[in-house]
Amino acid sequence: MSKLNFLAGIFIFGHLGFYCTTMAQPPETHNNQIKNKITKNQSTMNSINKFEFKELPYAYDALEPFIDKLTLEIHYGKHHKAYYDNFMNAIKGTEMETMDIKDIFRNMSKFPVAVRNNGGGYFNHTFYWEGMKASGGGLPTGRLSEAITKSFTSFDEFKKQFSDAGKTRFGSGWAWLCMDDKGKLFICSTPNQDNPLMDLPNGQAGLAEKKGTPLLVMDVWEHAYYLKYQNKRPDYIEAFWNVVNWEEVAKRYENALKSERLK
Ligand code: MN
Repeated sequence: MSKLNFLAGIFIFGHLGFYCTTMAQPPETHNNQIKNKITKNQSTMNSINKFEFKELPYAYDALEPFIDKLTLEIHYGKHHKAYYDNFMNAIKGTEMETMDIKDIFRNMSKFPVAVRNNGGGYFNHTFYWEGMKASGGGLPTGRLSEAITKSFTSFDEFKKQFSDAGKTRFGSGWAWLCMDDKGKLFICSTPNQDNPLMDLPNGQAGLAEKKGTPLLVMDVWEHAYYLKYQNKRPDYIEAFWNVVNWEEVAKRYENALKSERLK
């Protein structure tokens, strides 16, 4: 198959998926979901516990030109949806069905690898979507900004270290900004669909040798950027800074501080 046919195939497949997903959902359900999203005003970490396949918080083309519409359609509608479906199948009929996702991650080493891969894929992507927005980027503000400067000496140094974590992650994975149990921020990366909440034996969680509360994540799997950036992962990483939703990251940081204080 020529490269052109291959890309055209992806294009048609992605669009079919998009229309199927859109058409399968009556407008009322869509409106209710939006209403629930606004009125509940839950934190990201809590709202993900219901194991819903949440709506993308913006239109497929909202992150253009930094993240293109087709990539987002396939990434959300196909990749993320598949992780969700497989996660649902993997926990069906088990105690995990009624567990909080964070408790599943805390006990990850006790559960099958299908739960680790698909539960991680389900959670990490929701966290990634909600950490971005149209006309994002710029600089963090308030206490988050102070914490970043304190932990990394400057915003530019933080940006460099986070970008490097994404660039040097071999194969597929994620770059993370997290808070540790002392309230200090740190950067790490994880392979595959692992995340820093998971209780994994030393070495299995890649560079996430330290567990922590995630604040920001960047997907560096090829499916996150290949259609637009091909092999140029650093270009995608540079573009990512234009869509970061710093208000959401600040909210996550405040919630993380609150839950540390409650311990
Ligand atoms: Mn992905």
